[in-house]
Amino acid sequence: MRDPYEVLGLGRDASEADIKSAFRRLAAQHHPDKNQGDPSAQTRFTEINLANQILSDPDKRSAYDRYGPAAFQAGGRGPGGDVVDFGGFDDIFGDILGAFGFRGAGGDRGDIRMTLGVTFEEAALGASKEVRYERADTCGSCRGSGGEPGTRIETCSACGGRGRVRFQQALFPLAVERPCSRCKGAGSIPNTPCRSCSGKGLRAVERVLKVDVPAGIEHGATRVVDQGGHRIRADKAPGNLELLVEVAPHPFFRRAGDDVVCRVPITFVQAALGGEIDVPTLEGKIKLRVPPSTQPGQVLRVRGKGVEHRLRSGRGDQLVEVAVEIPAKLTPRARELIEQLGRELGEDLQPQQQSFMEKLKGLFG
Ligand SMILES: [Zn+2]
Ligand SMILES: [Zn+2]
Repeated sequence: MRDPYEVLGLGRDASEADIKSAFRRLAAQHHPDKNQGDPSAQTRFTEINLANQILSDPDKRSAYDRYGPAAFQAGGRGPGGDVVDFGGFDDIFGDILGAFGFRGAGGDRGDIRMTLGVTFEEAALGASKEVRYERADTCGSCRGSGGEPGTRIETCSACGGRGRVRFQQALFPLAVERPCSRCKGAGSIPNTPCRSCSGKGLRAVERVLKVDVPAGIEHGATRVVDQGGHRIRADKAPGNLELLVEVAPHPFFRRAGDDVVCRVPITFVQAALGGEIDVPTLEGKIKLRVPPSTQPGQVLRVRGKGVEHRLRSGRGDQLVEVAVEIPAKLTPRARELIEQLGRELGEDLQPQQQSFMEKLKGLFG
């Protein structure tokens, strides 16, 4: 038996995530379907599966760390004695859910992944959202057995009622088990299929949940509702509901950390003389004072109108970027007045022009 750490190319201190990602990568690479005509691919694939089987189970991993391969050999001292559980349940669950019409249910333990759309304001200030979805639950009528109540349930002949079939891998000094595919691991097969679930043992149930969206949540964050997923077997806990948060873009606002940034147009008269303008915030409009001689692009700060901080109390600020708008159309009178203004301001350079001219001089002498 090869060292499972070596098989997965990992050190002894590998984390759960390391193991998962190494396994996924290697299993995809060495999958027999992808390596047809290479007889050693099946062996490598089996080795990879076995290594993952041991390292991804904390009990088996610690048994391996303590006793080495002896933990898994006949008469070995490891938990589970001489038998390695060779996966397979995930696939069977995936198949059942797939047959039931649930999308994306393959290869997990009844977990459901969904997106949770929230508005910009909800993400910034927090909200309670209603999530409506369908999940598989064990059929209440047959309690998941798939057999019509009151009818006979027969022992599965393929596995002799054990629910698992054992087979010997020639290369490994240990027996390997996988769930029985005939009875889907139940060990028994109903004689008459349950009428309310057609013998599947499952039913689709609509669920409505309240989910708290904490203030300051970011686009792409996930919320996990424990046991909110499918319940595939009456004797097992349901999977989880995993919600991927999608924050809708806002027509005015964007986020910069805990600050909210927006751009507000003002007239050049307001910019020159100052004034009061209406500014949208996360909670309605406010009046904002624009000081005289406000320059294009200048940023005015409105304290405490941003996103709620996550780790301390209080909120970020709202940053209002000023866009000075030059009139697009001029009446003859307006034109005359601006010309008059131009004459009044004369040849005197404004502060920005002054500094520009100085830099220009420095550059070209
Ligand atoms: Zn049923
Ligand atoms: Zn069976």
